[in-house]
Amino acid sequence: MLKTPAYAAVAPNQPLTPFSIERREPGPHDILLDVLYCGVCHSDIHQARDEWGGGIFPMVPGHEIVGRVKQVGSSVTKFKVGDLAGIGCMVDSCRTCETCGRGYEQFCEKGMAGTYNGTEMDRKTPTYGGYSSRITVSEHFALKVPAGLGLSAVAPLLCAGITTYSPLRQWNCKKGDRVAVVGLGGLGHMAVKFAVSMGAEVTLLSTSASKEADARRLGAHAFANSKDEATFQRLARRFDLIIDTISAPHDYNKYLGLLRVQGTMVVVGVPPEQVPVHAFSLIGGNKRLAGSMIGGIAETQEMLDYCAKHNIVSDVEVIPIQKINEAYERMMRGDVRYRFVIDLASLAS
Ligand code: NAP
Ligand code: ZN
Ligand code: ZN
Repeated sequence: MLKTPAYAAVAPNQPLTPFSIERREPGPHDILLDVLYCGVCHSDIHQARDEWGGGIFPMVPGHEIVGRVKQVGSSVTKFKVGDLAGIGCMVDSCRTCETCGRGYEQFCEKGMAGTYNGTEMDRKTPTYGGYSSRITVSEHFALKVPAGLGLSAVAPLLCAGITTYSPLRQWNCKKGDRVAVVGLGGLGHMAVKFAVSMGAEVTLLSTSASKEADARRLGAHAFANSKDEATFQRLARRFDLIIDTISAPHDYNKYLGLLRVQGTMVVVGVPPEQVPVHAFSLIGGNKRLAGSMIGGIAETQEMLDYCAKHNIVSDVEVIPIQKINEAYERMMRGDVRYRFVIDLASLAS
């Protein structure tokens, strides 16, 4: 086993503190990565604070990982020592069920192995995420990181990127579509970039009036303040597609009112509490309320290749690991522009 420094929440609602974990020596199909950068997703906060329940502690969060291959197992073909590799929200699945076969490993019928706050497929060994200096993973769940993109800015693509690219593809976002992105944080700013790159007319709905200039710089064609009730009258029945990235409870019914006939609202944000939806919000206009969770491995690779082709990366603020608790507090205030990324060089081995 490889003793590895990390940062962990040892119990819910405790600040993250230095912690030591063990990584396995790479097996025949594994690679060992030195973690270079790890993005900070709002899901890290929800889970470190056990807002969704069932958390496994001590918890080492982090599922937006970019690293360099340090060692490869004897049968590895996809990577060689020195290559870059990425890891997102999963490190394994059964790989044989019908759902895995269709490329939806995130919905594996046996349950996927989450990168952290989960277990390996033996259902015993806890998994620990990217707030650590190295990680061992099967080559099948590691992504090829295209050369030529800034590495700290690539890390968030592994969750925020795929989580917004996938629903835009599933609901066939195309030139001329009117798309609303709700919430300008890590997911929201990627949704704006992708939807704009696909030719949509994009409106950003935000509770932060101060983010308007950034929204436009990211490519949004319009900006609306969601704290202003008049916004919901002015934009009523306007959008083909809404991507809702809000991390806190809010009224879905209000946003459904912004859809055109047969429009779709895709929920990707995961507020900790349940939110009631009135049938009238859906039946008036044959509307659809949908959800989307990350993306499969092949689609994640497709997204990374798309980003290389269209020169899309995240807007990041790089922090040392010692600033992680402060970063969480800032994210809770919506003060993120637009993804914190940990430089793991700050975590001495
Ligand atoms: P984030 O960077 O913190 O951004 C969330 C944004 O939501 C904030 O910047 C803010 O934008 C808005 N917001 C926050 N509180 C709000 C409130 N009370 N009312 C209205 N708007 C509010 O978070 P993130 O990393 O993008 O993650 C967003 C959500 O997606 C989280 O719940 C996360 O767990 C979830 N997630 C889901 C998946 C999936 O597979 N479906 C994957 C990753 C993350 P404004 O300032 O613009 O209003
Ligand atoms: Zn995430
Ligand atoms: Zn499976």
